[in-house]
Amino acid sequence: MTKTLIRGAQVFVENDNFAEVSLLIDKDQIAAILPKSETVADAKPFDATGRIIIPGLVNGHTHSHGALARGGVPDDAILETFLAGSAWLNLDRSHDDLALCAQLSAVELIRKGCTSCFDLFIELPGPTVEGTYAVAHAYHDVGLRAVVAPMIADQTIYQALPGLLDTFEGPLREAVAAITLPDWRSTLAVCDQALRNWPVPTGRVRPGLGPTIPLHCSDAFLQACAHLSDDISMPLQTHLAETRLQQVMAQRKFGTSLGEHLSELGVLSPRFSGAHGVWLSEAEMTLLAAAEAGISHNPMSNLRLGSGIAPLRRLADAGVAMGIGTDASNTSDGQNMFEAMRLATTLSRVNTSDSEQWVRTTEAFDMATRGSARLLGFDSVGQIALGWAADLVFLDQSYCHYTPQRTTLDQIVMAETGAAVREVMIAGQMVFSDDRILTLDEAALRQRALVAADRITHANVGARTMNAAAAEVVKGFCQRHCTAHLP
Ligand SMILES: [Zn+2]
Repeated sequence: MTKTLIRGAQVFVENDNFAEVSLLIDKDQIAAILPKSETVADAKPFDATGRIIIPGLVNGHTHSHGALARGGVPDDAILETFLAGSAWLNLDRSHDDLALCAQLSAVELIRKGCTSCFDLFIELPGPTVEGTYAVAHAYHDVGLRAVVAPMIADQTIYQALPGLLDTFEGPLREAVAAITLPDWRSTLAVCDQALRNWPVPTGRVRPGLGPTIPLHCSDAFLQACAHLSDDISMPLQTHLAETRLQQVMAQRKFGTSLGEHLSELGVLSPRFSGAHGVWLSEAEMTLLAAAEAGISHNPMSNLRLGSGIAPLRRLADAGVAMGIGTDASNTSDGQNMFEAMRLATTLSRVNTSDSEQWVRTTEAFDMATRGSARLLGFDSVGQIALGWAADLVFLDQSYCHYTPQRTTLDQIVMAETGAAVREVMIAGQMVFSDDRILTLDEAALRQRALVAADRITHANVGARTMNAAAAEVVKGFCQRHCTAHLP
């Protein structure tokens, strides 16, 4: 029996209204939305009395490798000192470690009501086919819907930021200058091979491409990434204007803003999304909208690293396709899409009491579901509607957030933390129930994580010391340049 009839719940239908209806699930889809009294002879009944069912949240931007880097980022880190100071956390990672990270990340996301993610994972010094496939298999086996995008670059931060290397002296300068990344042609050849010959069904886990930060990628590299994304028709995501310093450096390096630079290179397209977009000008927003490109808004990470508050209202009004993400569990410091969604609406209120300018709860919810799904390239994910993916989150109506229950969506967006999540279904398969992930052994996973984290910490004592010293120099450089004039 492949059909399930979910009965008794309040269902958020088409991201529009709550109704007491039954959901007929056939394989991985919502096959019918039926009156609550209706029965279906060939369907297994599922009693969801006391549940509020919403579509699974979709994480527009994360990094699974952050799962083994928790607690490794100093609380005074800005993005650039994080990049310089925390590089050691990504060293000495086996393919098993990459898979372990994807499993850890998937478990956290599912437990917090997220059913899909865009994962820019890193493998150093460069991606391999085996490493990429280890991540893809991990998501496939846990059951989380995902875009798996190798995060790639051909310039280190010391090569990427004009003038940075010159501020280093002595042995530390030699040490950071000696760090190199593989030539972009070999990196892209690996991606081409890995992403074209995908190892798992693409219904749930798909390939993507993640040129990390435009400043860290040569022009020809970015253009080649865009061609590959076009050729295989897969999403491409980069960190775009995450910090003000990035825009200052873009002016020095390219003589233009980051958005205009990408536009001139022909990288913007409906498959393109930028993560963060905190420091985008109106002109850049217009270019993104004209290209039908998107932005993943990652408010927690932006706050944690002091990057700023993205102009969500203006981005949405400009016509940029908006999604919401968490960023990784090293800089966020968890992956909670409920939190990200709540920050999306509440932070829009910071600078204005004109409520017409606020991002309302309905908008934030839509960005965190259909909006992010659009960035991932999944057309039928992100709402409970006929023929759409059976990605469902069951909330406990008796939980304090809903006692009393008046304006259900407002209460979900403004109060939910994931604490009321009781069941999670992805592509018609129950993956979480009775406070347990059903597709893997969480206790064993935790043991593997502790062993791997311990090994990484002990293997990289020297790199950690060097990274910390380099981060201090980077910090001074950023302080001197981050407030420079921008046109
Ligand atoms: Zn990121």
